[in-house]
Amino acid sequence: MSDCIFCAILEGSLPASIVHRDDTCLAFMDIHPLSRGHVLIIPREHAMQITELPEPTVQHLFTVAHRILGAQRALGWGLEGSHILLNDGPRANQMVPHAHVHITPREKRDGLGM
Ligand code: 5GP
Ligand code: ZN
Repeated sequence: MSDCIFCAILEGSLPASIVHRDDTCLAFMDIHPLSRGHVLIIPREHAMQITELPEPTVQHLFTVAHRILGAQRALGWGLEGSHILLNDGPRANQMVPHAHVHITPREKRDGLGM
């Protein structure tokens, strides 16, 4: 979709630090990380909300989230916990109108509170 920054990343016209790619999704580092290892996982298909996506695609996003969490924990990131977050729609703080899953590893004294 034109004017979508995540579609531009998928097309390669906007650079990103890609950590995983397959036929269904792409995962890359968040440009403004809330913590070390903040990753976004996006479907290749443009859709704003997950109800617009086929159920297997949504399942795959979380399968990849599970794999990335495992890889991060092998690196020692998020050993005490991570946020696995999806802001679904503008009222729920979704800023980029292309569905995405956040993985935000937590660390002691990471400044995020709680
Ligand atoms: P939302 O509030 O929509 O759930 O989160 C959007 C996320 O996308 C934010 O964490 C923001 O930092 C990230 N983001 C916005 N623009 C870009 C970009 O051009 N590149 C990357 N890698 N991340 C982006
Ligand atoms: Zn898009």
